[in-house]
Amino acid sequence: MAALETEVRYIKGIGEQRAKLLKKLGISSLRDLICYFPRAYDDRSVFRSIESLVPDESACVRAMVVSQPRLSHIRKGLDLVKLRVSDDSGAMEITFFNQPYVRDSLKPGRYYDFYGKIGGSPRRPEMTNPVFEPEGKNELTGRIMPVYRLTASLGQNLFAKIMRQGLEEIEGIIPEFLPASVRSVHRLAHADFAYHNIHFPADPESLGLARRRLVFEELFVLACALRFLKSRRVERNGLVPKKADISEFYSSLPFAPTGAQRRVIGEIISDMLSGKPMRRLIQGDVGSGKTLCAAAAAYYVYCSGFQTAFMAPTELLAQQHFGTLEKILSPLGMKVSLLTGGMSAKQKREVKKSLSEGGIDILIGTHALLSAGVDFKNLALVITDEQHRFGVNQRSLLTEKGENPHMIVMSATPIPRTLALIIYGELDISVIDELPPGRQPVETFGVDEKFRTRIINFTRRLVSEGRQAYFVCPMIEESETLNLKAAEKYYEQMKTRIFPDLRVALLHGKMKPSEKDEVMASFMRGETDILITTTVIEVGVDVPNATLMVVENAERFGLSQLHQLRGRVGRGAHKSYCILFCEDGPANPRVGIMCKTGDGFRISEEDLKIRGPGDFFGSRQHGLPEMKIADLSADMSVLTEAQNAALELLERDPGLSSPENQALRKRIEELFELNQGAFS
Ligand code: ADP
Ligand code: MG
Repeated sequence: MAALETEVRYIKGIGEQRAKLLKKLGISSLRDLICYFPRAYDDRSVFRSIESLVPDESACVRAMVVSQPRLSHIRKGLDLVKLRVSDDSGAMEITFFNQPYVRDSLKPGRYYDFYGKIGGSPRRPEMTNPVFEPEGKNELTGRIMPVYRLTASLGQNLFAKIMRQGLEEIEGIIPEFLPASVRSVHRLAHADFAYHNIHFPADPESLGLARRRLVFEELFVLACALRFLKSRRVERNGLVPKKADISEFYSSLPFAPTGAQRRVIGEIISDMLSGKPMRRLIQGDVGSGKTLCAAAAAYYVYCSGFQTAFMAPTELLAQQHFGTLEKILSPLGMKVSLLTGGMSAKQKREVKKSLSEGGIDILIGTHALLSAGVDFKNLALVITDEQHRFGVNQRSLLTEKGENPHMIVMSATPIPRTLALIIYGELDISVIDELPPGRQPVETFGVDEKFRTRIINFTRRLVSEGRQAYFVCPMIEESETLNLKAAEKYYEQMKTRIFPDLRVALLHGKMKPSEKDEVMASFMRGETDILITTTVIEVGVDVPNATLMVVENAERFGLSQLHQLRGRVGRGAHKSYCILFCEDGPANPRVGIMCKTGDGFRISEEDLKIRGPGDFFGSRQHGLPEMKIADLSADMSVLTEAQNAALELLERDPGLSSPENQALRKRIEELFELNQGAFS
């Protein structure tokens, strides 16, 4: 018997060599091993008679070896073992390539269970290289077999064997950290049963039970952890600004804020006055005006003499925000500054000096704001825009720069509420559910190549009316296998052949920051008619005069991405259009959804259904532990259930201090210390 933390190399039958292979799969401990869940299953539970075998299908056959296996050496590197087997209904020829040892392991007169793909013809079926075992052993045949995601040097059969060994080791020591009350209310299988049956299901029902239990467990632990963190935060003190008059801010704006913006700003202010550090997510569709809410918050703390840090994911966006915020905030007396990697050492030094002396009220930048040597005098508010590009760790690094500063996170991608509760579970959520008045919907079309000429003419017409256009392609380098419009080549073509008389520019992610800035600035000033670009343009860019978004190979983009891209137009007074080029034109399901609705929340729900939650939910993006088994597109109902259960449990026992909940508490601590030391 071993502990879950035992390294796999100490387990019987594994050893150094195999441990190295397992390491490549991210498996070092016994726990890692048993949590390496199958990606699929192979149902080998039904035995078939030889007479009923169908070529090209895989099948299990129980048969007696009727001939002495013959080994023949064909040439160097090619050995064959051939034998005949039979059952009541017929006979079958079996061939093994380069497995000379099977000659001695298959004994005439004995029954074996074989599994493999059927070859030959219906009347003379054959099998090549089947797996086999003595009749009734049921380890490789006659059951549902797991199929794992493996590397070439580690085969399924060997891995299954290792897994069996692992499961044997943990017999009786799998901790049950789901409290009994939760298990009985939600009818969840015991941990022991679940781990065995997820790998080697006794039958389909057991597999279903096992999976449900493990998915629930994963989501429940996460939901509890996030809730728990949220409640712990409440125990800390936050900076309290003086009460200030926000109406001065409102009256300095060139437009009236929407009702939703006022409500969200109200929520932010009451958070900051509450005495607890604010941790708030602002969710809102593209163009809903999130920046304004952030600006209001910065103004509010400024009235008490506090500073704000504002982080954007790219230099491009930092610069743009700087422009916007300076326009809004400097008339109110605020000193607005920018700090980016592209600035000269001298400029940076000056900004940092002024910042530490309190000469700057709001500093805008990329994660350069996180670097050492950026010291605020009295930081009270940290705003991160387009949060999905920042990890939780980066976020918490920044908050370490002040004494429990308030935090606002602005998400670019609207996501369904249930999902937001998990991904941003430790945050309070404000939703801007209203667009500024006068926005016209962006007219959207899915088209195929037949429409190319028409679209080109249409582009010319818009440009002649003084508008600008984006043309987006999926990648920057030509790829031969996929027929993608590579931006560079495409740009050459557009510039020299299609629009030789227009001002065409190229912007992509591999350009130097200074080049990017230049291209973007020229587009913003209206000196470029057509901007050829990749998804660098996806998030946040705001050029109201651009009214046409053309996306090439739209089938290569996710729905949320398409929605973001479309959000780059329709920002001004002019009618805007989005053209999605796609092989199957309007028949493409994603394109269909884009044409049907402009509502980002609906689109993200559809996206989740089509694409699965990987991109929403990967640890890469959110700094949350990776989901090992839960698939939120399929497990949405379990998610809701797990969330409610977590809520209930923490209401009853907010500190997770009752004896029944100790195992759970320990699990949460392990999970979050392992995955994100910065979470505290
Ligand atoms: P997002 O929520 O996508 O970040 P922005 O904050 O960039 O949206 O705002 C989109 C555009 O809408 C900007 O040009 C901004 O000036 C404008 N805007 C914001 N609020 C209002 C409002 N209440 N009335 C009119 N225009 C507004
Ligand atoms: Mg924005």
